[in-house]
Amino acid sequence: MSERKPYRLPPTVTPERYRLKLAPDLSDWTFTGEEQVTINVHEPVREIVLNAAELELHEISLRSADGNVLQGSARLDPENEQATLSFGATVPPGRAELRMRFSGILNDKLHGFYRSTYKNPDGQEKRLASTQFESTDARRAFPCWDEPAFKAVFQVTLVVDQGLTAISNARTLREVTLPESGKTEFVFADSMRMSTYLVAFIVGEFESTDPVMVGDAPLRVWAVPGKRHLTGFALDIGKASLEYFGRYYGIPYPADKLDLIAIPDFASGAMENLGAITFRETALLVDAERATRAELERVADVVAHENAHMWFGDLVTMKWWNGLWLNEAFATFMEMLAVDVWKPEWRRWDSFTVSRAAAMQVDGLKSTRPIEFPVERPEEAAGMFDVLTYEKGASVLRMLEQFLGGESFRDGIRLYLERHQYGNAETTDLWDALEDSTTQPVRALMDSWIFQAGFPLVSVERAPRGIRLSQRIFRYLQDGSDEDRTWHVPIFLRAGGKSGVVEKTILMTDREQVVELADDAEWVVVNAGGHGFYRVRYGSDLLAALKPCWHDRLSAVERFNLVNDTWAATLAGLAPLADYLNLIDLVRDENDINVWTAVISSGHHLQRILDDAQCAMLEERLRGLLAPAVERFGWARKQGESDLESQLRGELIGALGTIAGDRACQEHARQLFAQYEKAPESVDRNLIPALVSIIAHTGTTSDYEKFYGRFKTAQTPQEETRYLFALANFRVAELVDRTLKLTLSGEVRTQNAPYLMRGVLLNRFARERAWEFMKARWGDMLRQYPDNSIARMCEGIVGLVSRRLEAEAREFFATHPVKQGAKQIEQHLERLRVAVACQERWHDLLRP
Ligand SMILES: [Zn+2]
Repeated sequence: MSERKPYRLPPTVTPERYRLKLAPDLSDWTFTGEEQVTINVHEPVREIVLNAAELELHEISLRSADGNVLQGSARLDPENEQATLSFGATVPPGRAELRMRFSGILNDKLHGFYRSTYKNPDGQEKRLASTQFESTDARRAFPCWDEPAFKAVFQVTLVVDQGLTAISNARTLREVTLPESGKTEFVFADSMRMSTYLVAFIVGEFESTDPVMVGDAPLRVWAVPGKRHLTGFALDIGKASLEYFGRYYGIPYPADKLDLIAIPDFASGAMENLGAITFRETALLVDAERATRAELERVADVVAHENAHMWFGDLVTMKWWNGLWLNEAFATFMEMLAVDVWKPEWRRWDSFTVSRAAAMQVDGLKSTRPIEFPVERPEEAAGMFDVLTYEKGASVLRMLEQFLGGESFRDGIRLYLERHQYGNAETTDLWDALEDSTTQPVRALMDSWIFQAGFPLVSVERAPRGIRLSQRIFRYLQDGSDEDRTWHVPIFLRAGGKSGVVEKTILMTDREQVVELADDAEWVVVNAGGHGFYRVRYGSDLLAALKPCWHDRLSAVERFNLVNDTWAATLAGLAPLADYLNLIDLVRDENDINVWTAVISSGHHLQRILDDAQCAMLEERLRGLLAPAVERFGWARKQGESDLESQLRGELIGALGTIAGDRACQEHARQLFAQYEKAPESVDRNLIPALVSIIAHTGTTSDYEKFYGRFKTAQTPQEETRYLFALANFRVAELVDRTLKLTLSGEVRTQNAPYLMRGVLLNRFARERAWEFMKARWGDMLRQYPDNSIARMCEGIVGLVSRRLEAEAREFFATHPVKQGAKQIEQHLERLRVAVACQERWHDLLRP
């Protein structure tokens, strides 16, 4: 028999239906509430245990199945965030009604039921309240069975000050003014059966779009007053993606309405509360005429992602937090599918390759983790919202989808949703459904990717009559451990010679495998299409066969992978830096944005690793690469050019003016920005981020003042964050100090301040000051910033590339552990180790 974990709820009592009434008071940031929960008592119990945190409970009573009404009392356990209710008698089995009143505070930590403030168009400070319950913060708003498997129906009533709007998960049944208090009571319909972490209450002054109908459900986008003109784009992708998912899943949208709501203070990107999705403003509100393509894509991505969750996550939910990847990987995968269908010209699956690369960067560490791993305490779930859950998870689903075929994969997903709707499921249930609908060995294949950390490096050599493939774990730091690990690797091959091009798909399950090819095969591409979550290393003659005509033989994604895999091999010490620098010379004539992104991001990475003298050499080398490309693309948008091309122009110019240090480019960028200030329409919007980054990189006090002013008076969320985060890129010491102070002055929302701090740590010219500041003000940061942002902020330490700073960082985190994100800190430190090892290895390179 296993002992019940103290932080888990006993299964003896389960909730069926909650009737909740909450009255938030925005003037003193408090709330009161009452609830009536229909519960099922499965065996006689002396006590009822449920979750509550930072709440006071009063007037507890229970009408038990035999009709007796018992008065109860509560014992709170702050450690386990539980309340134990006792009634002075044994509660008999059967259906019972539990009632209680409670009160709490609207906190400033952006979780539970929390406060948010903003200035209205007249400059007045205004207040609102919103919720963020995932993973385990519903218990801060009302006493509940706060585990995902305890699904129930929620009927919510919100009592708010006159003039305020209230939104919850279901449609408003009535809105009445209460005669005695003058307050407004919003009574909402029953929700579907769902988990507590999906409940939402939003209260404040809001304006919405007119509804558009998606099936029977009205869809609206909401914002605080003065921002309604920024909602149109989200409404478009909201409708398109919701309709797409209804078709894909073969199940209509499961709730009775959908509101997409922008909240001025928001800890993550967005939250998939059923029927009432909340977003940070940059992820929902956008001026479609002025925003860059990348900013529009971000809104489309996040809206599609959250909408995908209405089925995957909300309708079918993981049993426990170890299955979080089921929600998040799937929503990320579906987001790509939907946005790709909506705007094919964005080539969303091509740019997804950049996300896949970001996941591989973490997954190549010894301190990585499997996508799914045992989660004991609920707070451990908080550490799972990372690139491994989202991006690696989505990547391996894409790999599986490509291996099974799109339709077979979709049929399996439909079967899974149909079997488990309104309930909970585990990873193994998904494999069952996919195996039942495809007859492929899905479980054996996927278990090696989901339950095993890391990924393989597939080496390719010529063999008599074909090629020999071999797999072994890829690691940046090789210590010989875990070498016995193997994966079931779907290998997509394309080979060509005189008799034409052939394609092949095989499932590699052994350490080595020989694949026969036509006798005249001259070249071969392994991981053709680029969907595989592995790196490829070609033998020198096979690589030589690809290089001279790489535009003809390799697609853009395959070229990206060749660059990115070679860069990773360089960082891992498997290939000399000179080989990589020679390879990227091939990019000179490249027109694909993602291939250039791989090169430019490695340039930023190198700039953090190399010393001053080496950086000067690097700048020269990058100028040689980038200047001709900028020359070729020009500075102005060409007629008929795609948004991706104009974005690429911006990326090239931005890199030439910063990491390549090109004076002429810097000069021109300043002139163009001056022109933009006078006539915004005269400069292509996709160029503005580049101009801003160049000016910050070379910026003076007056530039700083200008950007700071633009941050304070920005007209859109995108402009606000653009100028705010640009402040992290100034190099003058006194301006660096101003930015550091700003992170804790209260002027920057705590949803953004940690990321501003991360930016300064990553700025090679500011990192030492930033590090001293972070150590000195650590306690203030922990107090002010949302818990989930601390480990993300600390990613900035990967920029502290020197043996001394690395030692300091190790010592600091040994004595200052980060509760929510210990794993991420370990990963940041290992990435720093990789960079310092490279710095030492490349010490004598790139010198005249
Ligand atoms: Zn999600």
